[in-house]
Amino acid sequence: MLYWDYAAAAPPYEEVVQTMEQIMKQHYANPSSLHRAGTEADRLIKRSREVCAAALGVNPQEILFTSGATESNNLAVKGAALQYQSRGRHIVTTEIEHPSVYESCLQLQNMGWEVTFVAPDSSGMVEPSRIAAAVRRDTVLVSVMHVNNEVGTVQPLLEIGRLVKAANHRTLFHVDGVQGYSGFEPRLGEWQADLYSLSPHKIRGPRGVGLLYVREGVTLFPLLTGGSQENGLRAGTENVPAVVASAKAVRMSGERREQFNNVMIPLRNRLLKFVAGIPELKVNSREDGAPHIVHFSYPGMKGEVLARKLEELGMVVSTRSACSSRLAEPSRILLSMGRDVSTALGGIRISLGDSHTEADIALLEQALLKAVQALKIVEGGMR
Ligand code: PMP
Repeated sequence: MLYWDYAAAAPPYEEVVQTMEQIMKQHYANPSSLHRAGTEADRLIKRSREVCAAALGVNPQEILFTSGATESNNLAVKGAALQYQSRGRHIVTTEIEHPSVYESCLQLQNMGWEVTFVAPDSSGMVEPSRIAAAVRRDTVLVSVMHVNNEVGTVQPLLEIGRLVKAANHRTLFHVDGVQGYSGFEPRLGEWQADLYSLSPHKIRGPRGVGLLYVREGVTLFPLLTGGSQENGLRAGTENVPAVVASAKAVRMSGERREQFNNVMIPLRNRLLKFVAGIPELKVNSREDGAPHIVHFSYPGMKGEVLARKLEELGMVVSTRSACSSRLAEPSRILLSMGRDVSTALGGIRISLGDSHTEADIALLEQALLKAVQALKIVEGGMR
């Protein structure tokens, strides 16, 4: 079996697994406890905050650990909306955000907030001027993802940040950076980002842990109340092994970014070209998209059917993002990119990782050809 679902969950680095085990065994004390073992666990969290902050080019006190990017995104969107509602109750986001941002916005909409969902173009690109045009005096937050998790489009965050702040300097700018970190250096200062979410398990770290950068001076309404952990913004005993292992993954992934791109981009380009050459398939990813995502559709063929056929042939792929893949509806992302329903039902996402080689791509190409041929015959027979 070859695993092509790195964008859903990447296999952890060996160092990450070892760190988790070591910390679980040796540092099980509660970091809030005042005894020596507790203060040692607290020191490990502090150190992890410093490592993550260095990788993001920010201050350690601006890093918050959560239970995952889903929580980070919920906290960024709802925490900002609730905290700053005296400034206004308007939010701007896009139609192609991850459900953890999108559904948070819908929830706020149901509670009386106004949300403007900006549509992308047909390649999944969000036009900065359309975001800026939506910003008003009462806009408290703009949330735009760095890299789309389904098709891999990279958003022009520099321009978006600049235009948002020019339109309203008090509007907060949140970036869901989950799918961008492995391939692109985060430039939080240049993007003028106030909030930034990361998910370690997408970058070969542990799952069930997340990061949220909260720019100094920004406050959020806490969604979890209780103890005073994480600056009072996120109550709950810290997951020390996962936090320490996350810092390891954030550092390692950042250090290996150049190597990751050098390996991944030629493989991605080769695969994109190959898929474009199969007449039944329609490529949905841009050539300048994320180095690890290739998305295409087989219009008229359900994505699940093609994915199952590929799995029979030893290739593990996704139909779309893992969070939405159990939905029977057409992809919200592809529909908002203007694809018809049959194309939006027939998506396949192949996501690459740094363990893949040219030989793996060659095997995947053969399997793709075989799968399409086999399904074409079945489909022809059914007509
Ligand atoms: N945002 C994006 C863009 C994602 O791809 C994901 C993971 N599917 C998330 C947020 C949520 O991350 P987590 O799995 O850590 O909750």
